[in-house]
Amino acid sequence: FDSRDGVIWYDGKFVPWADANVHVLTHGLHYASAVFEGERAYAGQIFKMREHNQRLIDSGKLLGFDIPYTVEEIDRACVETLAKQGFEDAYVRPIAWRGSEMMGVAAQNNKIHLAIAIWQWPSYFDPAERLKGIRIDLAEWRRPDPRTIPSKAKATGLYMICTLSKHAAERKGYADALMLDWRGQVAECTGANVFFVKDGVIHTPTPDCFLDGITRRTVIGLAKARGIEVVERAILPEELDGFEECFICGTAAEVTPVSEIAEWRFTPGAITKTLMEDYDAAVRAHVKAVAAE
Ligand code: PMP
Repeated sequence: FDSRDGVIWYDGKFVPWADANVHVLTHGLHYASAVFEGERAYAGQIFKMREHNQRLIDSGKLLGFDIPYTVEEIDRACVETLAKQGFEDAYVRPIAWRGSEMMGVAAQNNKIHLAIAIWQWPSYFDPAERLKGIRIDLAEWRRPDPRTIPSKAKATGLYMICTLSKHAAERKGYADALMLDWRGQVAECTGANVFFVKDGVIHTPTPDCFLDGITRRTVIGLAKARGIEVVERAILPEELDGFEECFICGTAAEVTPVSEIAEWRFTPGAITKTLMEDYDAAVRAHVKAVAAE
């Protein structure tokens, strides 16, 4: 991945992709003092860019540091990097981290770096293939108590749990893993939020110890615009038996139907299909708006 063509925006300058390096004594690498974002561009426009870049700044603050750029400057850097890379549909990865001036837990004066890399990452499969649903395992690792870690931050350290869970699931042939939280309630997948459908009503866990995804909020808005009731509440794994449909959503995953979670079975149906279509229309809405001018 590190030897591609193209450029990466790095502390205000464009550097060749292969030269965008950090020192091995980087604080972010040793002590997980790093935060990042995942954004998607559709037809040359980054969807919800401002919200993502604001969350990046907020995540830094939750880890006790100020990213030395305003949200406007980060937005502009993302747009310029996308243009330099020349992609229409792409994935945007800003990352901010504490540098290597001091080595030790304390790094009060270490420089805060910011880099933005953009690569092509097409939306998965065709809708018919997607509607078959993916298979998900139940993870052994849990989302931690928010008193033990700033769980609202999109911080690299929190992804240790996700990689452990995803690798364990993949070893068993599953596409992803659903994690419970420290109380045993349903939380989220390793890179996406989870939704269930029963009797025409959508149920999704209250995001009190995991990421309240930007896609999650978009999908809730789309469902409400369709007049579908959305209930945010604590969901226990025992309840999974009673749900008819299940889907996950996130910037990378978009709206992805689920057919299995461990021993539970779901049939992707009308509500999942509608929200897949509505999400696709929403991310591409600006394309139609431009075309209509
Ligand atoms: N949970 C986790 C653990 C994630 O990594 C993501 C992807 N950023 C999400 C949820 C969904 O967030 P968003 O919709 O903002 O991409």
